[in-house]
Amino acid sequence: MKQLFYFIAAILLLCSTCPAQSQTQRTRLEKHVYTLASDSLQGRRAGSPDAEKARQYIEREWLDMGLKPLWDGTFRSAFELFGQSGYCNLVGLIEGSDPVLKQEYIIVGGHYDHLGVQNDQVYNGADDNASGTACVTEIARQLLARQSELKRSVIICAFDAEEIGLHGSSFLANTLKTKGMIDRVKLMMSVDMVGWLRQGGALELQGTGTLANGDNLTSPKSLGIDIPIRTKRFENSIFTATDTEPFAKKGIPTLAITTGIKSPYHKPEDDANLIDYEGLDRVTDYLAAFTLRLASTEGDLGSGKVAEKHRTKVPLLEAGLQVGYNSSWLQFPNAAFNGKSLSGLHGGLALQLNLGNTFSVHADLIYSLFRTPLPHIEQPFVSAFRMRQQAVLLPLTLQLNISNVSNRFFFNFGGYAAYLTAHDVYKPNTVDGPAVMKADLSYPAELGIAWGVGFRLGYHYEFRIYNLHALTPVYLSGVSAEPQYKSFPNHSTLSLAYYF
Ligand SMILES: [Zn+2]
Repeated sequence: MKQLFYFIAAILLLCSTCPAQSQTQRTRLEKHVYTLASDSLQGRRAGSPDAEKARQYIEREWLDMGLKPLWDGTFRSAFELFGQSGYCNLVGLIEGSDPVLKQEYIIVGGHYDHLGVQNDQVYNGADDNASGTACVTEIARQLLARQSELKRSVIICAFDAEEIGLHGSSFLANTLKTKGMIDRVKLMMSVDMVGWLRQGGALELQGTGTLANGDNLTSPKSLGIDIPIRTKRFENSIFTATDTEPFAKKGIPTLAITTGIKSPYHKPEDDANLIDYEGLDRVTDYLAAFTLRLASTEGDLGSGKVAEKHRTKVPLLEAGLQVGYNSSWLQFPNAAFNGKSLSGLHGGLALQLNLGNTFSVHADLIYSLFRTPLPHIEQPFVSAFRMRQQAVLLPLTLQLNISNVSNRFFFNFGGYAAYLTAHDVYKPNTVDGPAVMKADLSYPAELGIAWGVGFRLGYHYEFRIYNLHALTPVYLSGVSAEPQYKSFPNHSTLSLAYYF
């Protein structure tokens, strides 16, 4: 009997501690996701009355748990888009207790808007991003329960209008800047699509490199939470963007947090019944513990580094390697014909001095193999002989960059020099040609003008086309025939470069 009593007491004790608490959090997470991703909210399109329903739900939850607004007695921080009102972030504050550090902020945010209704289908957006909104809400609840342990303050945010261009997060970042608070934001986290932990295999944290000691700070083991995580030092995919971007571009350390895009991403099938709630519960516990750690760790949190795609300034000097393909031909200003073209290869260095974001001085130092057909002296439309040149080629141009820092179009204009290290004239064995054509290449250098266009994709990859037109002539003549033909070499080069 006594044993039975102890047994029952033990069970009761167990139920009253962690499992019960975690069950209620899980139940609440389910309720948030099922509510926000229900058909009655019609996909929470930004600017629609359905997004307003989502806001009212979140606001009620936040008020009930005792979260305080950051500004003006309301969670609502409304903004206009395209001259229209009806867009609104919800912003709450959990104030830190340290008299100095409470002026510093950790932001935990997730967007609540989704795609609405398209072609009569409701895009419920359960993973994207009812899951993140639910998670942020329950993180806030956990932090409120341990508020006395926080030294820094934590800003809780539900962003609007992410799906149509990160507008809610941009608005918050700009508002914080206007109010002189942005430099006191020590980390911004975007919790976006965190409902597929089991299927995704791990919780991904992109941007640990923006934190000093990021790998240690994020370690689940040291936080006492059992969750598989995958860290990426920087958010560098140029094909994805999240609410971290407007903050990262202001130099703030950021973490983009997700269980990945295994869910039916931007499809009507992204529904509440597919969410891994056990996983979402663990993600919430982990992020709450992590936020608590950051809010109570003294000293600088940032590493001072940002992802390459978040750079707002190009570096002064850039260097890369390039390989390419070229095509050369001769232009005859005094004759009724132009030479045909033949291809060659080149490779070498690319160097760039950036004078701000718009203008650069670009130089290449490349070793080129040029092949140029020589016209038959009596039958100019037959290319009987070929000139083969090896040259050190140095185009030097002024470059005009258009569009943003990481992906830019550019135009170049300048000059080039080619120092010929070897040349010969040969007759390909497939051609019968009677007359021998002679090229006078006694001078070693070719000088001319260069112009081109190109595209830089992300920080590393570049595609560039140059047209090089010589201003120094080459004289061609037959062995015995006169007159000489004056010609100007032309080269088109196409290069792929990788910058370090
Ligand atoms: Zn999203």
